[in-house]
Amino acid sequence: MISQTYNRIATISLSLAVFILSACSSAKDTKQDTATHYSMADFATVKKIDAHVHANNGDSAFIEQAQADNFALLSINVDYPDFPDIDIQQDIALSLSKQFPETLYFAATFSMDGWDEDNWQSLVTTRLNAAVKNGAKAVKVWKNIGMSYRDENQQLVMIDNPGLDPIFSHLTQHQVPVIGHQGEPHNCWLPIEQMSVNNDKQYFAAHPQYHMYLHPEMPSYEAQMAARNNMLDKHQSMQFIGAHLASLEWSVDEMAVFLDRYPNASLDLAARMGQVQAQSVKNRQKVRAFLIQYQDRIVYATDLTYAPDEDAQTFKTTAHQKWLQDWRYLNTDTTLTVPEVDGTVTGLALPKAAIGKIYYHNAQRIFTLK
Ligand SMILES: [Zn+2]
Repeated sequence: MISQTYNRIATISLSLAVFILSACSSAKDTKQDTATHYSMADFATVKKIDAHVHANNGDSAFIEQAQADNFALLSINVDYPDFPDIDIQQDIALSLSKQFPETLYFAATFSMDGWDEDNWQSLVTTRLNAAVKNGAKAVKVWKNIGMSYRDENQQLVMIDNPGLDPIFSHLTQHQVPVIGHQGEPHNCWLPIEQMSVNNDKQYFAAHPQYHMYLHPEMPSYEAQMAARNNMLDKHQSMQFIGAHLASLEWSVDEMAVFLDRYPNASLDLAARMGQVQAQSVKNRQKVRAFLIQYQDRIVYATDLTYAPDEDAQTFKTTAHQKWLQDWRYLNTDTTLTVPEVDGTVTGLALPKAAIGKIYYHNAQRIFTLK
């Protein structure tokens, strides 16, 4: 009797389970048939994060455009000579993040000035602690480490220099993510005519001082990547975001090797969509498969920079068009032209779930945003 009752309940449960399962799968199939990917009409309604911008202007134009296009922003302070002083950048970030706490987040940074002094590490740590207390979601280290800053002996300080370890250990221990921009695009070490995208050709033709192909006395591309990896080997639990696709932008295979090797690392797309598009012109399926396979590890970002002297309306238009263009490429299967690549590029029509992670959930998780 007990056994019969049990069997009967089990049969009912099983039928119910089969019914629920088939109901779910038919609902899913219907949904997939109608819309596996987003369209241009979905752009404004999907919540998004641009995880690498530079709000170097205290005016609210960037915020207004972000809100209109349903973006939150991570503004990254960086010790870049063409930008305002890092204290001014931080003041702007603090002010905007207080005024617009759901739209603007920021990452702090530090200067290499004073590196040779005994108290440099403690001054940097104090500065970063204060920034985190004031809301900084990450710390940025820029390519001046490895490519331009020299110590008192005129030696370049590489990212794996032991003098940086106490700072990286401190950030790792306090679970503060580190955004690293080390090296340059691989194109930087190639002759102009061999570069894969037009923006690199133009930039390095105009700035020969930064064109490493012309400076064989400087560290090689491989040396920059090895130093970065050596630093990560020393700080394995660091939450690391490789800015600009970790300077591996030229090869989705190399990006995959990097992500497999460093499970706590992710990549931001800032200013490297052209490199992704150049690869997808050659092999769309390969690039699409890479983004789907690593959908938990890639963060949407543009590197949009709102400069102090920039016209507000011009900047808003630039930001809106850049965001629309990237949305079209990643979400639809239409053909588009982009300035970085000659000819046309076909959109990747990534699945909605992958887009949700790349455009929102990954950055939200990694930087612990609201
Ligand atoms: Zn940047």
